[in-house]
Amino acid sequence: MSKRKIVIEPDPILRKKSDSIEKVDQNLRKLLDDMLETMYAAPGIGLAAIQIGIPKRAIVIDVTKDDNKKNPFYLINPEITFTSKNTSVYEEGCLSLPGHFAEIERPSECHLNYVDYEGKQKKLKAKGLLATCIQHEVDHLNGVLFIDYLSKIKKDMIIKKLIKYKKEVSKIIL
Ligand code: ZN
Repeated sequence: MSKRKIVIEPDPILRKKSDSIEKVDQNLRKLLDDMLETMYAAPGIGLAAIQIGIPKRAIVIDVTKDDNKKNPFYLINPEITFTSKNTSVYEEGCLSLPGHFAEIERPSECHLNYVDYEGKQKKLKAKGLLATCIQHEVDHLNGVLFIDYLSKIKKDMIIKKLIKYKKEVSKIIL
């Protein structure tokens, strides 16, 4: 496993729609392993392949807070088949928007079809934080970020701060 570099907004890559995955093979499992390592190291609770610059419909999620009881989900070609009318609000963050958080309202429950790490077709019914996290990550596969749900003023302010942040980071590296 190796840690990969996370793409930071604003970047046109993050607005790309990711492609479906045709085969679960060793290359894909290596990608999933790297994604999980990158996510845990960040640390974060979800990461889409596009966030490390790879436009494939693959997501890793682990919403357990206990480091000793890791429970990763690998979601390949996830498809949300149902969302509840009931909604819940969570303060969301994103590894591609470091330091920024906002309360986002989403359906509190969702059902999902996906392919797992072994290449098997699976179904999942999620609620609570897991449901929110799944919807946030599936948005990434469609080029959508959580700031897209905010007012234009708030969104522009966050993007402006991120442009400044990226300049600072590159100065330090130089
Ligand atoms: Zn995100």
